[in-house]
Amino acid sequence: MNQQPNLAEPLPDQSSRHFTPLLQPDLAGLYRRRAARLRALAEGHDHADYLRWAARVTEAQATLLPEAGACGALAAGAMPDAGHCIALLDRLLEHLGHDVPAPVAPHLAALRGLAAAERLAGAQALAEGRFDAAPAAIAPLLWAALSLQCATAARAAPVPACGSAELPACPMCGTAPVASLILTGEHHGMRYLHCPLCESAWHMVRAKCSNCGSAADLDYLSFETAEATVRAESCGVCRGYLKVVSLERDPHAEAVADDLATLALDDAVAGEGFQRTGFNPFALPG
Ligand SMILES: [Zn+2]
Ligand SMILES: [Zn+2]
Repeated sequence: MNQQPNLAEPLPDQSSRHFTPLLQPDLAGLYRRRAARLRALAEGHDHADYLRWAARVTEAQATLLPEAGACGALAAGAMPDAGHCIALLDRLLEHLGHDVPAPVAPHLAALRGLAAAERLAGAQALAEGRFDAAPAAIAPLLWAALSLQCATAARAAPVPACGSAELPACPMCGTAPVASLILTGEHHGMRYLHCPLCESAWHMVRAKCSNCGSAADLDYLSFETAEATVRAESCGVCRGYLKVVSLERDPHAEAVADDLATLALDDAVAGEGFQRTGFNPFALPG
């Protein structure tokens, strides 16, 4: 594994530049980019079937966007309009149909057989971060419906005055980030943390632990060269890590897709004694 001290991380001059504390990417475009990236990363990948399945779920989310509108306000740890979320889950299952990969089929059948109250309890548990209370096999689909609704609600909700607070969790919904993104374009070189629930992204300066804020003992770990698109930013102070996905290095990269396709890096970093400080919606904690 390639390991570099934080001195290797360039520090762009952010002091004189205007920046937006919170970004909310257009959902249709985001889902389209994510699905395309998942399909591209699936080529030759050990877990190609699962990456393509995640692409299909993402495409179903995109298709259902018009139905996800007009839901209630978003609050940290609370589901906006729980009943609507379950209706969206039904529609998601309809869209995914029955032509699904063999390993997924029994879980999908189990989810279809669940009573509405049980689905609601599962989605509620996920919304509150109680991942062990929702069956792991069906959690990503429950999450996909929940996320579709929360992401839509977040775009209709007033943006909190988070200023430059650089929080460790999403200012909109309180969820831990899936990964950091180094952006290009008008936010060139800036780091934003991406929320796997409401799909908002919030600014945090680079070369600082996204979990505890310390800059004292950071390493950037990857399997490839120092120029790898995906690296794990590990912190010797809190022993946490989260991946950094660089759009400067690959303009097609996307937080959820690139993180999901590099779970082998998680195993290696966990093997070094670090604990992941966020999660992927398609690989939820058990
Ligand atoms: Zn959020
Ligand atoms: Zn830390």
